[in-house]
Amino acid sequence: MNAAGQDEKNRADLVAANHILAHQGILDAFGHVSVRSAVNPGHYFMSRASAPSMVGPGDIMEFDLDGNPLDLQGRKIYNERFIHGEIFKARPDVNAIVHSHSPSVIPFSVTETALQPVCHMACFLQKAVPVFEIRDVEGENNSLLIVKGTTAAALARKLGDSAVVLMRGHGNAVVAGNLRLAVFRAIYTELNAKIQSESLRLGRVNYLTIQEARNFQEALEGSEANLQRPWDLWVSEVTPR
Ligand code: MN
Repeated sequence: MNAAGQDEKNRADLVAANHILAHQGILDAFGHVSVRSAVNPGHYFMSRASAPSMVGPGDIMEFDLDGNPLDLQGRKIYNERFIHGEIFKARPDVNAIVHSHSPSVIPFSVTETALQPVCHMACFLQKAVPVFEIRDVEGENNSLLIVKGTTAAALARKLGDSAVVLMRGHGNAVVAGNLRLAVFRAIYTELNAKIQSESLRLGRVNYLTIQEARNFQEALEGSEANLQRPWDLWVSEVTPR
């Protein structure tokens, strides 16, 4: 597939990704998902400001990595879009990003307990997930929202080479090399958080080792079919029949 064909697929998958993430309870009225352009890697696609479940093909817009829309047409755009551009700048390996407020993850952003992999499907977590503290950048007079490029750049630095970064008292950002994998990781980040919280209530938790997580990740992500199966299921769940 050439780059133009890839972008046509990216735009169609982006609409589906919005619907899937809303249906799965990762995004509600808020949060957003983006995919880097294959034609111009210095650009990305994201919906205009809208509830994700209501996003249609005509809502997809193109932005540069500083968050400027190429063709605004008077539309409202997401205030926190800087999260996407700054992570794309910092991570050439990342081609898709989900920013969500998925509820089970938030406890790990406001306590001393690190989010760690407790089940094999969350193998991409691998190590304690970093937590971004906005007070470190903006001080006490912050709005919790990332509405400045400089704050988003600090978030990208906290992410480092991880797949997920938590935002204290707010949400998280999940990244991947492609859009379908980013959706997969956002869904299993939420599920892992839920299972980890339940496990912690029962007693001492036996976490996956980094070696186990790496080995399973290789097996899972090494095969296109492994990621196609859940994607097909999730698409079918949001496709009217
Ligand atoms: Mn947010």
